[in-house]
Amino acid sequence: MGKGVAWILSVGNELLIGRVVNTNAAWLASKLTHLGYSVRRVVAVPDEEGDIVEVFREALGRADVVISTGGLGPTPDDITNLAFCKALGVEPVVNQEALRMVKEKYEARGYPLTPEREKMAMMPPGAKPLPNPVGTAPGILYEHGGRVVVLLPGVPREMEAIFEGYVEPVLRSRGPPVYFAEQVLVVRGVPEADVAPVIREVMKMDPALYIKSHPKGFEVEAPLLHIHIYASAEDRQRAEALVEAAVGRLKQLLIAKFGNRAEISTTQAPR
Ligand code: ATP
Repeated sequence: MGKGVAWILSVGNELLIGRVVNTNAAWLASKLTHLGYSVRRVVAVPDEEGDIVEVFREALGRADVVISTGGLGPTPDDITNLAFCKALGVEPVVNQEALRMVKEKYEARGYPLTPEREKMAMMPPGAKPLPNPVGTAPGILYEHGGRVVVLLPGVPREMEAIFEGYVEPVLRSRGPPVYFAEQVLVVRGVPEADVAPVIREVMKMDPALYIKSHPKGFEVEAPLLHIHIYASAEDRQRAEALVEAAVGRLKQLLIAKFGNRAEISTTQAPR
């Protein structure tokens, strides 16, 4: 079920010293999940060639889709594109289309094309540059042996713009269509530990169902749970029907087990 396994690689020292919160990974994880991929790893690595090469090699062996962010800029510590080439075992080449994109950005503002800037156009032979509508470094799309690898800049606005403009359509068109449905039940008055067996029971209804409780209150003093019910399927109606059925069954079992003690309502699923 689904479109395959995705790994997210986050490159940047600032992530590992706690200066920057890895919002890119969370954003991409949500996008990829909603596109029908199963995200199995989010890995943060420093701006060190050895670490980046190692994590790309591992990802290439295990994921259908690999998305990295960070390290595509002009400074010497931005080496993700070069490390990716090394992981593939190929020499980086200057991609002429990418060079044109980089050149246009700088020349429009009267800056010359320096070797540091030219470095942003280097990628494996056969890779496709993805226009960056916000910043200067193009993204990189590399398709090989049925896998897709995408390298995106670290700046969230740039990363999001390239992903939505050029990556999402590619990922959407691969494999069977996958629709995703979600609902959230709010349950007040019953501790999470007591709800767990009910969730396990309802999840047995269908392998395409995934149900997870998130405690929002205080387990013993004032229990409040948000129960997220997700399903993915090849058509929208089936995904929605599965979620609907699971919600119905959850309510039924919660009432049977806890009676009036469980106060049940619904809330909007987050995007
Ligand atoms: P540019 O092309 O603009 O130089 P880059 O690809 O070189 O981008 P980085 O230098 O790695 O990107 O990161 C630029 C900035 O983006 C960081 O200083 C940080 O503020 C932000 N950033 C990087 N990675 C992440 C991340 N995973 N989540 C959130 N913000 C991030």
